[in-house]
Amino acid sequence: MDLRYSEEYETFRQEVREFIKTHKDQAPSGGRGAQKPGAGRKWQQLLIEHGYAARSIPKEYGGYGAEPDILKNHIIAEEFAIAKLRPGSSGDPRLVPTLLELGTEEQKKQHIPPSVRGEVSWCQGYSEPGSGSDLASLSTKAVLDGDDFVINGQKIWTSGAMQSEWMFALVRTEPDAPKHQGISYLLLRTDTPGLDIRPMKQMNGDSSFNEVFFTDARVPKDQIVGKRGDGWFVANATLKHERGNLGDPNAAESRFRSIVDLMKKEQLGGASIMEHPVYRDRLLKLQARMLSMKFNGMRIMSSSIKGEDPGLSRWIVKLQGCELNHQMAGLAVDIMGELGILYDGSAYLRDGGIWQYWYMLDLGLIIGGGTAQIQKNIIGERALGLPKEPKQEA
Ligand SMILES: Cc1cc2nc3c(=O)[nH]c(=O)nc-3n(C[C@H](O)[C@H](O)[C@H](O)COP(=O)(O)OP(=O)(O)OC[C@H]3O[C@@H](n4cnc5c(N)ncnc54)[C@H](O)[C@@H]3O)c2cc1C
Repeated sequence: MDLRYSEEYETFRQEVREFIKTHKDQAPSGGRGAQKPGAGRKWQQLLIEHGYAARSIPKEYGGYGAEPDILKNHIIAEEFAIAKLRPGSSGDPRLVPTLLELGTEEQKKQHIPPSVRGEVSWCQGYSEPGSGSDLASLSTKAVLDGDDFVINGQKIWTSGAMQSEWMFALVRTEPDAPKHQGISYLLLRTDTPGLDIRPMKQMNGDSSFNEVFFTDARVPKDQIVGKRGDGWFVANATLKHERGNLGDPNAAESRFRSIVDLMKKEQLGGASIMEHPVYRDRLLKLQARMLSMKFNGMRIMSSSIKGEDPGLSRWIVKLQGCELNHQMAGLAVDIMGELGILYDGSAYLRDGGIWQYWYMLDLGLIIGGGTAQIQKNIIGERALGLPKEPKQEA
C-alpha cells in the first residue's frame, strides 16, 4: 500500500497550509460561543470564496463549484484539523445532500444557498413519543386538502427547533399502506400557524431539545421531497449523511490535538500532566483509537474513489466515532481536576468550557441519529450477515 500523495496533491496541500497561515486569525475562536448559530458566517464566506467550504456544491446553489475530488476534500479536512481550526461547512449536513440527490430544481435553488451561507438553520422533525428507534411507526398525520397538507400530531427531541427557521419532517400521508411505505418527507417553516414549539429543560441547563406540536398546520403540497409515500427512502438518504458526519475522524483528530495541548499546560503536583503516567496511558489508548478511526476513514475514502461500497468500515463510523469523542472529552474534564466540574460563567474555565459542554453533548450523540444498540444491530445484520432480529410488522 502506498500512502504517498502525487505532486498535484502535495502542491494543493501547500496551498491549503498557506491559506491557513494567512487567514488563521480570522477564524472564530473555540469555546461554546463558536457553537452558536451565526458565529462563523464571515469565516464561512471566506472559505467558500477560496474553495475550502461547500467546495463541490455547484455555484448556482451558492457553493464554490469545483469538480468533486475526494482526496482534495480529505486534504482540506486534515489540514484544518491539524491547525485546530473550525472547518467550513457545505450547509446543513443532513438536508443539503438530500436535496442535491432528491430535491426538485426549485427546492435546490430556494434552500441550498442560504443554508450554505449559514443564514438559515434547519431542524429535523423525525422522532415522536414512542417512535424513536422504531421510527417507521411514526403517527403524525398529514392529510391533503386542496393545495396543502394539513398536519396533526407531535414530534419530540427536535434539536434546535427554537433557533431554526425551517424543519424537514416525516409525516404519515398514506395511513393504509405498510408502515415504511406510508411516510412522506416535508419541508416546512417553523413559524407555520398551528405549529407550537416547546423547549425542554436539560440537566446541563440548556434547552436544545424541543417538543413540537402540530394542530391543523397547513403546508403547501409542493414542499414535499420525493413522492408521496417515498419519505422513508428520502429519510434514509438524510440519515446516511448524518451518521457519517457524527463520527467524523478529522474532528476526532482535531480534538485529540487540543487534549495534548491541554495536558502540556495543566499541572499536577508541580509537573505538567503530560508527565503523569496514568494520564499519559489514557492519552495513548485514545490516540490508538483515534488513529484507527483515521485509517478507517482512509479505507472508506479509497473504496469511494474506486466506486466500491465501503461496507463494514462505513457502518462503524457513528458508533465508534461518537464513543471516542465522548471518552476524549471525559479525559479532558479529568485533566482539569476540580476546574473540570465548572460549567458556564466561571473565570477559571479552560478553553471556554468547551470540554464540559462536549462531554454532555457527546453522551447524547451516542443516542441521537440512531442509538449505539441500533448501530450494533445494523452492523450485525448488514455488515456481518448475522440473522435479522425478529420484527413486528404493522
Ligand atoms: C442529542 C440528541 C439529539 C437528537 N436530535 C433529534 C432531532 O433533532 N430530531 C429528531 O427527530 N430526533 C432527535 N433525537 C432523538 C433520537 O433520534 C432518538 O432519541 C433515538 O432515535 C432513540 O429513540 P428513543 O429516544 O425513542 O429511544 P427508544 O427507541 O425508546 O430506545 C430506548 C432504548 O432501547 C434500545 N432499543 C430500542 N430498540 C432496540 C432494538 N431493536 N435492539 C436493541 N436495542 C433497542 C435503544 O438503544 C435505547 O437504549 C435526538 C436525540 C439525542 C439524544
